[in-house]
Amino acid sequence: MPAAIVTGSSRGIGRGIAESLAEAGHDVMINYSRSEEAANEAAAAVAGHGVRAEICQANVTEIDDGKNLVDKTIEAFGTLDLLVNNAGIAPRVRADILEAETDSYDEVMATNLRGPYFLTQYAANQMVALKASGRIQAARIVVISSISAFTSSVARGEYCVSKTGLSMMTRLFADRLAEHDITVNEIQPGVIQTDMTGPVKEKYDKLIAEGLTPIRRWGQPEDIGRAVVAIASGLLDFTTGASIPVDGGFHIHRL
Ligand code: NAP
Repeated sequence: MPAAIVTGSSRGIGRGIAESLAEAGHDVMINYSRSEEAANEAAAAVAGHGVRAEICQANVTEIDDGKNLVDKTIEAFGTLDLLVNNAGIAPRVRADILEAETDSYDEVMATNLRGPYFLTQYAANQMVALKASGRIQAARIVVISSISAFTSSVARGEYCVSKTGLSMMTRLFADRLAEHDITVNEIQPGVIQTDMTGPVKEKYDKLIAEGLTPIRRWGQPEDIGRAVVAIASGLLDFTTGASIPVDGGFHIHRL
C-alpha cells in the first residue's frame, strides 16, 4: 500500500487531505505540532477507511523534527510514496507592511518556507534511496501554497512572500528530481473554511456572496484533498513544477 506524510494534518486542510488519501487507499502519517487530541481524532478517521494511520509530533520549523518525521514514516510503513507539505501559519497579527515586525516575518518564513524546504530536501533524498533499492518506482511531492503566492495582501506581507517562495521551491525541486521519477507540484488553495480563516469568516462570507470567486462558495478541505489524490494516484504524472489553483476561479482576471 502506498504511504504518505501530510504535514499539519491534525486539523483543517491537512486533515481533509489525509482523509481523501485514506479513501484512495494510502497509509497516512498524521503530523502535528501542538494539537495532540486533534491528531488522534484525525488518525482515527483515517484508520476508519481501512488503511494504516500513525501519528508523529514534529514542528516543521525544527529541521531535525522533519528528518525524524520522514524516518518514522519509512520505519512504520516500509516506504514513502508521497510527501504533502501542508503545515503553515498566518501571521499572529495582521500588521501593515510599513509597520510589521521582524519576529512575525521570521516565524512565518521559518514555518511556511524554511521548514518545508529542508523537509522536502530530506524526504527527496530518502525517496531517491528507496527507488535505488527497488522499493518504489516513482514518488510525488505536493506543496500546499496559496492564492497569496500571487495576490497582494499588504496586512500580511510575510505570508505572501512565504507562499511565493513555495512556488519557486516547487519548480526547483521539480527540476532537480525529474530524473528520479519524482514529480513536485504546487496546489494553490483559495479561501478554504478552516480554523485559519475562522477569524475572518464574516468578511469572506460577504465577499464570496458579492462574487469574489466565480464559484460562489467557501472551499472545503476535501476540495484540496481530491486535488492531492489526483496527483497521488498518478493521473498527473507528466505534470511537474506546476501551480494548480483550487480556488473556485479566484485567479481569473475579470472585467
Ligand atoms: P489550520 O486550520 O490553522 O491548520 C494548520 C495545521 O498545521 C494544523 O494541523 C497545525 O497543527 C499544523 N501546524 C502549524 N504549525 C506547524 C508546525 N510548526 N509544525 C507542524 N505542524 C504545524 O490551517 P489550514 O487553513 O488548514 O491551512 C493549511 C495550509 O493551507 C497552510 O499552509 C495554509 O497557509 C494553506 N492555505 C490555507 C487557506 C485557507 O483559506 N484556509 C488558503 C490557502 C492556503 P497544530 O495545531 O498541532 O499546530
